[in-house]
Amino acid sequence: MRQREHFDARNKEMILTDFQNLGLSGGLLKAVSENGYASPTPIQEKAIPLILKGHDLLGLAQTGTGKTAAFGLPLIDRLLADGDVAPKGGTRALILAPTRELVNQIAKNLISYLKTTPLRVTSVVGGVSINAQIKRLSRGTDILVATPGRLLDLVDRKAVDLGTASYLVLDEADQMLDLGFIHALRRISGLVRDERQTLLFSATMPKQIEDLARSYLRNPERVEVAPTGRTADKVTQSVHFMDQKAKSDFLLQQLKANPEGMSLVFCRTKHGAERLMRKLSQKGLAAGSIHGNKSQNQRDRAIRDLRDGKINVLVATDVAARGIDIPGVSHVYNFELPEVAEAYVHRIGRTARAGADGDAVALCAPEEIGLFRQIEKLIGVDIPVAGGEVPPMSAAAGRSKRGGQNRGNKPAAKKPSRKRSAKNHNDNTPGARPHKQRRSGNRKSAA
Ligand code: AMP
Repeated sequence: MRQREHFDARNKEMILTDFQNLGLSGGLLKAVSENGYASPTPIQEKAIPLILKGHDLLGLAQTGTGKTAAFGLPLIDRLLADGDVAPKGGTRALILAPTRELVNQIAKNLISYLKTTPLRVTSVVGGVSINAQIKRLSRGTDILVATPGRLLDLVDRKAVDLGTASYLVLDEADQMLDLGFIHALRRISGLVRDERQTLLFSATMPKQIEDLARSYLRNPERVEVAPTGRTADKVTQSVHFMDQKAKSDFLLQQLKANPEGMSLVFCRTKHGAERLMRKLSQKGLAAGSIHGNKSQNQRDRAIRDLRDGKINVLVATDVAARGIDIPGVSHVYNFELPEVAEAYVHRIGRTARAGADGDAVALCAPEEIGLFRQIEKLIGVDIPVAGGEVPPMSAAAGRSKRGGQNRGNKPAAKKPSRKRSAKNHNDNTPGARPHKQRRSGNRKSAA
């Protein structure tokens, strides 16, 4: 009897976590299984039934959690159920995302979900010819995926009528605000139908996003898969302290020690990213770069090269790499810490995607200690120190934008565990090796 109860309970659990129970129609279930999705991710499990019921939604989820399918699948289902045709020169649904890469990625995912339907997806981004986009939009579309800037160019040229859209999705809303799209968002949302369903997704929840949600969403349901600022659980984090000028040799050593890995390296500036990429290439590594000085084609090629294994190191700036989905990224290196702590969450979200493991290695110079402490505070985790001496907070003078003098200078890993502790550092990871070397000797020799 007890066995049977256990069996029933287990099966119930299994059924509850299956896509079939979320209310999606048969055609979409087929698309889901053709995409190889065996069971829904937590954000999908929570968001899909609510969106299908027509609720506005505020979704707190990081990239890599499966949020594109969380809004894409029910959106397609609702468009099919509405049964309307794509209005000439207009769109039935509008999805806004902060970067070209993210727009292209969302469109690619949606196309894979609606292959067997008559629905059409159109994407518009800056950096490519606007005339071809004007022509495509004139035919009308079911789902328009766009960056805000290019969309407003098209609106100003009367190439698209947003008044036909009954669905509005704002993806990575926090990034859109960071990139200064607030006025564009206001204008665009005023052009979309009043009678609409609005879905807003954000990885973090600063006050500005709450304000945005209050003004754009009606009685929204709120779903959250990772509390604000929490980093993906499967990412093993570590930090190495060293001087700025020691970083590139250290990184080179780490990358060479891990020839099978696929690494993303984050720099603060586009020139810094390009310089570092050149240095790594000169030293024999297969490296590429994506940043604001690269054309759309160059960026697309670099991402494709990484996906295809032609290169295994991609040096990037935050803006260029935002939201991109490259399955199989094993390591994220924070070559320079981001100015804004939230960007750290986005950066390390590039690894450990869709259930895989990943390493996030931060290289912290003495003048970055303030930024580092802000990151720890935001994510509520003491990042294990894998190498080098923890610099005093006074070293950060003039570096941190937000002051950052609110933390002591004790080694992070030794503090009492008031907070969640980061996943234990695995000694097989490249990050662990220099730790051992450094403990027994001179910091610079290891770097
Ligand atoms: P996203 O957070 O939307 O960028 O998705 C991250 C990755 O997870 C993408 O490569 C998706 O194709 C993949 N993915 C989305 N949903 C699932 C699922 N239920 N099972 C497995 N992989 C998924």
